[in-house]
Amino acid sequence: MSDFEGLTALVTGGASGIGRATAGLLARRGAKVAVLDLDPSPVGDPLTGYAADVTDDASVRAAVAAAVHDLGGLDVLVNNAGIGAQGTVETNSDAEWHHVFDVNVFGMVRTARACLPHLRASAHAAIVNTCSIAATAGLPQRALYSATKGAVYSLTLAMAADHVREGIRVNCVNPGTVDTPWVGRLLDAADDPAAERAALEARQPTGRLVTADEVAAAVAHLASPLSAAITGTALAVDGGMQGL
Ligand code: NAD
Repeated sequence: MSDFEGLTALVTGGASGIGRATAGLLARRGAKVAVLDLDPSPVGDPLTGYAADVTDDASVRAAVAAAVHDLGGLDVLVNNAGIGAQGTVETNSDAEWHHVFDVNVFGMVRTARACLPHLRASAHAAIVNTCSIAATAGLPQRALYSATKGAVYSLTLAMAADHVREGIRVNCVNPGTVDTPWVGRLLDAADDPAAERAALEARQPTGRLVTADEVAAAVAHLASPLSAAITGTALAVDGGMQGL
């Protein structure tokens, strides 16, 4: 499939996990792809890496400007950089609340703000935000993380409304539990990582974790010109977690 032939894309958090799988898939489907990450060095040809911290407005603006210059424009923004947080409203500190919101929500706002002027010049402009089933699932020990993803969900719908007349589509994917380095780190921190993984898999309706490639396929679907009539939607990629 070459539906991204002639198009350009920027993927934040594209050096690992879901972002890395997405950047690779968009490139295989014909896009010229730039990756924005804290440390983009794992990214190799044909992807180009740009170092930036999404909590730092100046670094985001500089990386977006450099990427758009090198790509020759911008058609697709995949707003994916994010971090996890465990705890309740009593156990997470104010500093943690501010920091996780700064990365997961304001990071997407800053990146979108820097990209929108370029997306307006595209005939196939699309933004895909990486949200989570946590936005609506009511998961224990995830108050802070879930609140950030609830904000990403609302942001997606509001941005879709704001920019539809400009020809810019805005959607999000809501992954379930995805087998990425992030989940690997969580499992490694458990007393018995193998038992913890087995328990996690047993909680999935499919009996296995979602793969990063499966989320990437959903992101590509929403970003593709083939989805020109789709905006303001959330696509669950959760192996049936929410529906079953
Ligand atoms: P990951 O840790 O493998 O990758 C995240 C990437 O984001 C890393 O390369 C990291 O360097 C980058 N990043 C983090 N903070 C950044 C910052 N301040 N500036 C720039 N880049 C930064 O994680 P992943 O599992 O691939 O997660 C990607 C997205 O998917 C996140 O938004 C996460 O909330 C979401 N998500 C993940 C899961 C899951 O189960 N893994 C489920 C639902 C949603």
